[in-house]
Amino acid sequence: MNHYHQFSALALAMLLSFGSQAKPTPQQLEQSVSQSLPQLEQLYLHLHQHPELSYHEKQTGQRMAAELKRLGFDVTDNYGGYGVVGIFKNGDGPTIMVRADTDGLPITEQTGKPYASTVTTKDKDNNTVGVMHGCGHDIHMTSFIGTAEQLVKHKSAWKGTLMMVAQPAEEVGGGAKAMLKQGLFSEFPTPDHILGLHVSASLPAGQVGITPGYALANVDSVDISVKGKGGHGAYPHTTIDPVVLAARIVLALQTIPSREVSPLAPNVVTVGSIHGGSKHNIISNEVKLQLTLRSYDPDVRLQQIAAIKRIVKGIGISVGLTEELLPSVYVHSDETIPSTYNDPQQTTKISDSIRSAIGSENVVEAQPVMAGEDFGLYGLTPEKRPITIFWLGGVEPDKYQRVIESGKQLPSLHSSQFAPDYPLTIKTGVRATTASVIDLFNGK
Ligand SMILES: [Zn+2]
Ligand SMILES: [Zn+2]
Repeated sequence: MNHYHQFSALALAMLLSFGSQAKPTPQQLEQSVSQSLPQLEQLYLHLHQHPELSYHEKQTGQRMAAELKRLGFDVTDNYGGYGVVGIFKNGDGPTIMVRADTDGLPITEQTGKPYASTVTTKDKDNNTVGVMHGCGHDIHMTSFIGTAEQLVKHKSAWKGTLMMVAQPAEEVGGGAKAMLKQGLFSEFPTPDHILGLHVSASLPAGQVGITPGYALANVDSVDISVKGKGGHGAYPHTTIDPVVLAARIVLALQTIPSREVSPLAPNVVTVGSIHGGSKHNIISNEVKLQLTLRSYDPDVRLQQIAAIKRIVKGIGISVGLTEELLPSVYVHSDETIPSTYNDPQQTTKISDSIRSAIGSENVVEAQPVMAGEDFGLYGLTPEKRPITIFWLGGVEPDKYQRVIESGKQLPSLHSSQFAPDYPLTIKTGVRATTASVIDLFNGK
């Protein structure tokens, strides 16, 4: 070995040791996030007081774009609606995508907090409705900006491309679809790893819950129109009563989860709305049903839909309805959300990273839920990139303890009473996400 090679071996060793020193320790990261917290709290309060409904997240998107630009990201806004993509290139390495959703909900906030949202808007029937970040997407966005800031601050600890995606219209299942359709994975680098979080209304702040494998469900909205032959309520024998037909259908649909789908495959068929008729003594011509379907396995989803069509047709035939009057089934495929499957290998790595960042005692394995999230779509493109979404505890720890001990229920997500313990929740979200992304960049 000549001197030159000895020198380069030494330089390489120094570089490598410098590289590993550059990764912040859990304590350093905690301090670094604490320093940024007052500013992040201001951002949270601003977002909380300026919620915008799905497909209207214009100002929110502008704020996300401005924050990412301030941090040195190359920003594309108004992408797939009011979506924002921030790219930060930091040498050769993998591309890692972090996603936050940006929309609020038509809920009038009733938390009684001094910073409660007082925003109102008009719905499609011109009624005034309140607007609230009732699903905690303001927490997601603040944690997202905090994470971007930490990753830029600690950029000597990783190499690669950081892709920050602020996605609109999650609550209506439209945003991820629109951003992917516009070319999120072709006009920008295709991510090697994809990471997101959702605030939890059933875990205390300071904790994180992780579910490997199926974490959130397939969601379908289905309309059934049940037609009959109307007439006088006193002469039912001269009619075909759609109210009685609808009642039979509602009961028959219960046999799909209980008698058609395997008991080992979780699924839900809920009739959430039933409307028909106008008066006590009139047999109407039509009853309308609105259903929500939930499952994890895509085949179970297809089985549910096929069973609904078969059952309603069979009941229609049994009462002598002619072909054109048989009940019709409409699946709102534009609102279909596929289940979210957390890649088990990546999710285990992320769980390890979060354990070392915030302490093993603060990380729990969470049960899968039947709620939906369009985050799952990012893992279902032809590239099939691994995705992980984790639950970020949001309940004030003392309140959590009190409510659990009393056996009462905590306000859920989408409740007008939902008020996360934002400083601790945001701080935990930033620490957990930053540590996970640094480890993923370093192949850990
Ligand atoms: Zn929601
Ligand atoms: Zn949500």
